[in-house]
Amino acid sequence: MSRLTEAEAANELMRLARQIAKHDRLYHAEDTPEITDQEYDALVRRNAELEAAFPHLIRPDSPSQKVGHEVAASPLSKVTHEQRMMSLDNAFNREEVEEWTQRIRRFLSLAETDPVAITAEDKIDGLSCSLRYENGKLVRAATRGDGQVGEDVTPNARHIADIPQQLPDGVPEVFEVRGEVYMAKADFAALNAAQEKDGGKLFANPRNAAAGSLRQKDAGVTAKRPLKFWAYGWGAASEVPCDSQHAMMRRIESWGFPLSPFLTVTDDVDAMIAHYEEIGRQRPDLGYDIDGVVYKVDRLDYQQRLGFVAKAPRWALAHKFPAERAQTTLEAIDIQVGRTGKLTPVGRLSPVLVGGVTVTNVTLHNRDEIERLGVRPGDRIVVQRAGDVIPQVVENLTRGEDRPAFEFPDHCPECGSEAVAEEGEVDVRCTGGLICPAQRTQRLEHFVSRKALDIDGFGTKTIAQFFALGWLESPADIFRLHSRREDILALEGWQDKSVDNLLAAVDSKREPDAARLLFGLGIRHVGEVTSRDLLKHLHTLPDLRQIAEKARANQDQGGDEDAAAELTSIDGIGPSVVEALGDFFHEPHNVAVWEDLLGEVSPPRYEVETLDSPVAGKTVVFTGKLETMSRDEAKAQAERLGAKAAGSVSAKTDLLVAGPGAGSKLKKAQELGIETTDEAGWAEIVAKAG
Ligand code: ZN
Repeated sequence: MSRLTEAEAANELMRLARQIAKHDRLYHAEDTPEITDQEYDALVRRNAELEAAFPHLIRPDSPSQKVGHEVAASPLSKVTHEQRMMSLDNAFNREEVEEWTQRIRRFLSLAETDPVAITAEDKIDGLSCSLRYENGKLVRAATRGDGQVGEDVTPNARHIADIPQQLPDGVPEVFEVRGEVYMAKADFAALNAAQEKDGGKLFANPRNAAAGSLRQKDAGVTAKRPLKFWAYGWGAASEVPCDSQHAMMRRIESWGFPLSPFLTVTDDVDAMIAHYEEIGRQRPDLGYDIDGVVYKVDRLDYQQRLGFVAKAPRWALAHKFPAERAQTTLEAIDIQVGRTGKLTPVGRLSPVLVGGVTVTNVTLHNRDEIERLGVRPGDRIVVQRAGDVIPQVVENLTRGEDRPAFEFPDHCPECGSEAVAEEGEVDVRCTGGLICPAQRTQRLEHFVSRKALDIDGFGTKTIAQFFALGWLESPADIFRLHSRREDILALEGWQDKSVDNLLAAVDSKREPDAARLLFGLGIRHVGEVTSRDLLKHLHTLPDLRQIAEKARANQDQGGDEDAAAELTSIDGIGPSVVEALGDFFHEPHNVAVWEDLLGEVSPPRYEVETLDSPVAGKTVVFTGKLETMSRDEAKAQAERLGAKAAGSVSAKTDLLVAGPGAGSKLKKAQELGIETTDEAGWAEIVAKAG
């Protein structure tokens, strides 16, 4: 930054003001973002940094001067889904589809020859919606949002002809129909033609047009847009009157909902692939955009047993069509520094249309990827995008041209510290740690972000500004901002009301959700789902710290492995998480940040609602051979019943389920006087919990 002259800085600030204003408009007003949130944040951050270094160059039209526009406040109110709207795991080829069907057989302990019926239908590229019917009446329509919380679009949905307002008599008391709101290609073309004639804005593709049309504060606008709907499943229901996916979908169809015209039941991988290929052949001629084929296990009792992994059901799979590609020029390679210090190269492109969307940036992942592709600014490249994945470079068409290779920086562009890749690591990281402003401000941004503590009012620029002023050094400082009230008021753009709102938002998070708090700390490998998995079993942050420290101590001594084993016995927790937690607590600075923070906030004990069962809250160990189910299924059952499935027997074990051939674990359990049962006894417990 210090290498920048004043003229260069002024120039860049002008460019940034224009760019950010444009992306604000695309995102908020037009629902047609062209860049990812991370890329947008990087622009805002760059602007804040330049303004901090050259305060006399702050422009009147700078994004930092526009108070009130920085929070992407949706005009629609939020709805918490009673049952999470899941995402789907993806497959890209036949092998992956085969692996999925084999995994299902293994999980269900089925023989190679046992039939497993699978439904198949095309996956329309629209906007997922959940429609709640109570006593047959449409009472609420909500978008998927992040899967747990969506937006209320009830008045808008009432204008979509494919969505019945009233279901026939005899439907379950409560039933949520799930499906996709979309726009047909011809309707999209006509809408854009009309918009162009009226001087209105154009939509990038049918999906964005559908999203922009549905998510309107004024439902009258939605009414004028040609939206369609089809159903693909259901959510919360007081009763599911069928025993297979296909039968239930046909029942939903009989209630008046359109379904995919391709919905069918197949019974082996050959039939699934044949259906996929047939849909692929018809794809160009279909009246709507699709991006793949969705397979689901047909039997609902199997679906129930298979359950979920993280955010996706084990019983469903999206088989994607090949990605769309285009050629363009790589104009420049920029380096961004993330909150873990990772240097990520981003390719800036001559704008190009790929599958109906204008692409201006691609991720280049890391130094190795740049070497692998041999890309340098000026090269002609092939980019592709598949679904919502960030566009990628697949080929460098001019790598043979005689020009020097791109030199990956060996110093952090943000703080000038050395940037190195650790032995065996591909990622180059800034070693600046706490002196690197990029890492520190981004950690704070992550901490207050929607999926972490979700504190309103801390935009990128506010954090950068407070950080530059020395008011925000670590997360705990957020909770001490009260003492800065007068200082904040003295800053340009703040009034009594906006400061009060900010401090109230902070106060509302003094008893935060422990899993969000943990996720907000940004510990490596400890993401959103992992945080919840850990706390589901350990309940409090001090308990988590204690066991993580013990596991680390044991790792060094190579002795008793109980603590590490207890952590890794949690579904979803592997050795990398245990190691990352141990490393985190081994670093005195982190412990100081942790203790400081826990001095300011008091997260309540973390509990998740589970089925009422005699084993809720207990620790169960499975050993020996299980005959009607796999070990994974048994563990998943235990978790559904609110029990913890552990891998080894200890004094904390409450129940041992021992199949034939149980050896040392059974002996140890008997010595410790732990209750034991067999597989039939376990099945009874499961059946009782219903
Ligand atoms: Zn740095």
